[in-house]
Amino acid sequence: MSYNTPNISLPKFTYYKADNLTDALSLLKQYNGNARVLAGGIELFKQMRQRLIVPEHIIDIKGIEELRKIDVTDRGIEIGPAVTAVELQKSQIIRDKCPPLFKAAAFMGDRILQNSVTIGGNLTSGLPCTEGVPALMSMDSVLEVRSAERSRILPVSDLVLNIRKTTLNSDEIITKIIVPYNGGLSGGYLKLLNASEMAVANVAVALFSAKRKLRMAIGAVSVKPYYFDESTLGWKWNEPIEENIRVALNAIGSTIQPMAYNRVASAEYRGEIAKVLAARALKELFRGA
Ligand SMILES: Cc1cc2nc3c(=O)[nH]c(=O)nc-3n(C[C@H](O)[C@H](O)[C@H](O)COP(=O)(O)OP(=O)(O)OC[C@H]3O[C@@H](n4cnc5c(N)ncnc54)[C@H](O)[C@@H]3O)c2cc1C
Repeated sequence: MSYNTPNISLPKFTYYKADNLTDALSLLKQYNGNARVLAGGIELFKQMRQRLIVPEHIIDIKGIEELRKIDVTDRGIEIGPAVTAVELQKSQIIRDKCPPLFKAAAFMGDRILQNSVTIGGNLTSGLPCTEGVPALMSMDSVLEVRSAERSRILPVSDLVLNIRKTTLNSDEIITKIIVPYNGGLSGGYLKLLNASEMAVANVAVALFSAKRKLRMAIGAVSVKPYYFDESTLGWKWNEPIEENIRVALNAIGSTIQPMAYNRVASAEYRGEIAKVLAARALKELFRGA
């Protein structure tokens, strides 16, 4: 079933509007296994209409103030999971300090959807085409994840297991997204859509110039994004950029295993486009360097 499938009605559920995190977590614990968190609702209600999931209890977290903030702290940039794609694009902090995410937010559905789509929901959807995971992976981001009893830190790179499957437990909420850098980071985000506006590949790059760290994440080519650093890209800081890009493209080509989903793109085409976008992203990143 696609996004264009005519809507069928939602199954019955009880709606709770959580005023604070403690209430949300205790409701999730109380109805564990039979409750879902509601953020923008775009993916959640789609899955419910399709009867892929039929939770009896829906816990709305959008009104929880602490989940809607973007702050600079001693941990880096902290982003609340209920921040929307439009709010990411309007934030000067995200624009200045998290360029891959700033650019990726403009691709999170169309402009109307972007008013609803939240970064937490985008990450948790576990869809190969979504932008949040590769953009945040390229900045070595981690998630603060909480249940009523415990709190843990989960690297974004360990979040997605498979399509619509994540490593979150059913009683857990992402309560913060932490980008562990406060400035000194440049980066980009490129994406190619096919004629039906389906993602063929997306590429996020980040450069931490002071620490000589280069990161890349390639999404949409497989069920979860691929992560590269200067070692897996074969990057050598004393080599010319053109030579480094040549070596990096070879490394990417021999690492990624693009999925064959011919309604969107063949595996070969996805693989080629991933390399074209990677080359372009690296050239733009090092332009003038
Ligand atoms: C036509 C269309 C095209 C789209 N194109 C793109 C695209 O190109 N790129 C892109 O990135 N996105 C795209 N999207 C949006 C994307 O597919 C997801 O629907 C969206 O990101 C989900 O965000 P949401 O806030 O609505 O999440 P919801 O639907 O509210 O939640 C999604 C899932 O995450 C869980 N969840 C939400 N927040 C949390 C949290 N804090 N902690 C734990 N679990 C949580 C929910 O319980 C649910 O299981 C598109 C959507 C549509 C309809």
